[in-house]
Amino acid sequence: MKIYIKGIEDERFHRPLTLIGNLFFEETKTCFTEDDHSLEAEFFIEEESEKVSIKGTLLSEDGKQFTASKEREIPAHFVGKDRLRYVKNTLSYVYLTLLQDYTGMIQKWGILTGIRPTKLYHKKRQEGMKTSDIHKMFKEEYLLSDEKINLMQQIVERQLEVVPDLDSLANEVSIYVGIPFCPTKCAYCTFPAYAINGRQGSVTSFLGGLHHEMRAIGQWLKENDIKITTVYYGGGTPTSITAEEMDMLYEEMVESFPDVKNIREITVEAGRPDTITEEKLNVLNKWKIDRISINPQSYTQGTLKAIGRHHTVEETIEKFHLARQMGMNNINMDLIIGLPGEGVEEFDYSLSESAKLMPESLTVHTLSFKRASEMTQNKHKYKVASREEITTMMDHAVTWTKDHGYAPYYLYRQKNILGNLENVGYALKGQDSIYNIMIMEEQQTIIGIGCGAASKFLDPTTRKITHFANPKDPKSYNDGFEHYTNEKIKILKELFSK
Ligand code: SF4
Repeated sequence: MKIYIKGIEDERFHRPLTLIGNLFFEETKTCFTEDDHSLEAEFFIEEESEKVSIKGTLLSEDGKQFTASKEREIPAHFVGKDRLRYVKNTLSYVYLTLLQDYTGMIQKWGILTGIRPTKLYHKKRQEGMKTSDIHKMFKEEYLLSDEKINLMQQIVERQLEVVPDLDSLANEVSIYVGIPFCPTKCAYCTFPAYAINGRQGSVTSFLGGLHHEMRAIGQWLKENDIKITTVYYGGGTPTSITAEEMDMLYEEMVESFPDVKNIREITVEAGRPDTITEEKLNVLNKWKIDRISINPQSYTQGTLKAIGRHHTVEETIEKFHLARQMGMNNINMDLIIGLPGEGVEEFDYSLSESAKLMPESLTVHTLSFKRASEMTQNKHKYKVASREEITTMMDHAVTWTKDHGYAPYYLYRQKNILGNLENVGYALKGQDSIYNIMIMEEQQTIIGIGCGAASKFLDPTTRKITHFANPKDPKSYNDGFEHYTNEKIKILKELFSK
């Protein structure tokens, strides 16, 4: 779909309008200078000191015309960026209304195209806004549906139950450890993940670098008396290294990090069931790591094959039972809505299989076509469900989790996510992952160590976020880990010396 937008010269408005257009059509192209197009939108913006008024018309190829308009008072304290955001939102509001009228499609997330809707909810709450006013703002300014506003409220309340001191955790940090190896590479994957076979040399050098980072960062935290809230091992698949390598790594963690016994949660993603062994579970037990993730994604064998996961459904179930028998009492499982070839029937089957296992938490992702994945580059090869079916599957997930005692505790959205929906983490009472809350709500610094690990440094005073990324491939990491460690320590010094 090609859309030509007239009347918007200010380039700062181009991106939000493009994002809104993307919500409605597959492969939308938005242009702001005349070109071939199937839809034409035109806007007139009148801005006075205390008021903005925007009128829009939409003209389709077959001559249908739609109009929408919005007039708003601009609160006097909205100046600079806040004022611009307000005008942008008003423009997005008018454009969304036009496209909703034209397509008959209702966007439940309204004009909100950001990744972390609940972060905005928390921000307003922290600024002292009343719940009813937050709801009003989401409904009237952002055009969100009641369903999504209520979901956010439920999640925010749950997070505050799990982490009552959420608002004051900026003086602590969490740690993300990235291990970039997997048994094989899945088709939808854009994580730093390298097939491990035949790479032992590179694994060994990588682990050398990782131990160095752990020691250096750990020492800095100890010297500066900064506590760690949570640690999360992700990747890749952190259990794709050997049991012995895992053992040495956790030993390093316990020696290097400050006050490990008081870390609130340590998670190891054992994502791929084909990497889990009794020996590795013993290592996790030895170091008292009891939150793991075993990810089925789907319980339909054909799907696993199609997406390049070389393990069987039976193996997932078997490894889940093994982990349980060996004392793992906080297991997360991931499911993905909209995997190629899957419809409501397959997803319902995955839910019914989940009911037999009852993991402590279940994360329900909606497939997103990320630019770099094999799946996106060969999109024509993969048949995915329609928008309506995706929505039905999501509704089934909501009902199923509720019926089985789970509650939503975090959510995030992605670009190009099927049906413009969301990913939601559900947990049984008291089993919510604190790390997931910290990473989504961005209320404290997350130090990323290892390959592809992204750090987010939150200034405890201004709450400004600085990003810093370690290299994604093991070779660059191995060549430069000392430099990356030093850079992070430099940023930490600046932030925590204030
Ligand atoms: S297991 Fe996860 S990290 Fe590894 S290739 Fe598959 S999706 Fe990527």
